[in-house]
Amino acid sequence: MTDIKNNINNDERAEILCVGTELLLGDIVNTNAAFLSRELASLGFGVYHHSVVGDNPERLKSALELALSRADLVIMSGGLGPTKDDLTKETVAAYFGLPMELHAESLTAIREYFARTGRVMSANNEKQAYMPKGARVFQNRYGTAPALAIAKDGKTVIMLPGPPVELIPLFFEEVAPYLQERSGHAIVSRNVNIFGMGESAVAEKLDALLCESQNPTVAPYCKEGEVRLRVTARADNKQEAERMCGELVDKILESEVGRFVYGIDAESMEKVLVDTLHERKLTLSAAESCTGGLIAKRITDIAGCSDVFFGGCVTYTNEVKERLLGVRHETLEKYGAVSAETAKEMARGVRLVTGSDIGLSATGIAGPGGGTDATPVGTVFLGISTPDGEDFRRLSLSGRRSRDFIRIVSATNAYDMALKWILAKK
Ligand code: ATP
Repeated sequence: MTDIKNNINNDERAEILCVGTELLLGDIVNTNAAFLSRELASLGFGVYHHSVVGDNPERLKSALELALSRADLVIMSGGLGPTKDDLTKETVAAYFGLPMELHAESLTAIREYFARTGRVMSANNEKQAYMPKGARVFQNRYGTAPALAIAKDGKTVIMLPGPPVELIPLFFEEVAPYLQERSGHAIVSRNVNIFGMGESAVAEKLDALLCESQNPTVAPYCKEGEVRLRVTARADNKQEAERMCGELVDKILESEVGRFVYGIDAESMEKVLVDTLHERKLTLSAAESCTGGLIAKRITDIAGCSDVFFGGCVTYTNEVKERLLGVRHETLEKYGAVSAETAKEMARGVRLVTGSDIGLSATGIAGPGGGTDATPVGTVFLGISTPDGEDFRRLSLSGRRSRDFIRIVSATNAYDMALKWILAKK
């Protein structure tokens, strides 16, 4: 079987060097390295080393020398702050033999940032406007430290600020286009959103397709029951790259995986559901037990959902299920609260009470306690009620998963049930 993670067209080597004593002490997790690695792989770079070094000029210098001896592109994060121990720029400038000089545009941008955020600028912050001579500077709208790149003697070093809230948008807005410009290629990516099939099953079903695919590349990302395939094509121009991407996406849609695809470049399953409800002029409501309001929360995170989402309720006890939703006492007695019958009656109850077209429900055991042999932790019944009647789905996410995971996957499954019902209607 193809290892789809390694299915990359690594014709250029890149290396990641993160600076920060906090990383070495284990106070923070190196999420920047994970993010940068993923993004570089999808841009076609081979990443063979990550390193971390503290805020120490000598060790930083030798880490940089080592990285540049192995790679043509080094991406650094951290150490661009205003204090004396922030030495990334100075160390890289010294390596290339470049003097530091005041970059007027950066000074103005930093002053404007402080004015905009109503904070007082200290003299130290001026240090952040000094750049190695000839550096390409990327203004940072998200913080004070501009990012920068130095390209010399066939080597490129890109320096990014440490905070992920700055690094991530700067990467997408400035660095990725810079890398494309530098390579002379156009790079286009599409995301295929998959739900209901695990990563290894997806890899297995797409094995033949992936074996052939060096360009476009395919990289999988998994989160809480979902798989996203990022398809990235490189070509001489954007049109060609788009055509290549489209062709591979079509092949995925035509494969066995196709029926599990719920969107292309979709933000989330709930966004697709809200958009589809709008398109079909349908409305939704939710009655929740183990998800504690998460089904409603994720829907109401989406601006403009008020036209399609009527409301929901969290009905934790049997008594409240009976009183608010009209779940029958006999149903609860006979089948229990965590059962298909109760889920269906909850969904029906909330649909009738709110007057929506679709009612969703969730009742289950999110753990860690409360499980029995018959209904272990991770057993969830999801209900759906529509003018066509009621249906349910049983999830068995047994024990090994956290309470959060069980709730998130339950909510996503509930959206999936609603989407499937809508899409099955002509
Ligand atoms: P600043 O201008 O905020 O000082 P900087 O570029 O100097 O930015 P650092 O001081 O090294 O960056 O780090 C600032 C913060 O960014 C850290 O406290 C941490 O929260 C976060 N951070 C730094 N490096 C990483 C990393 N590799 N992964 C995740 N978070 C990081």
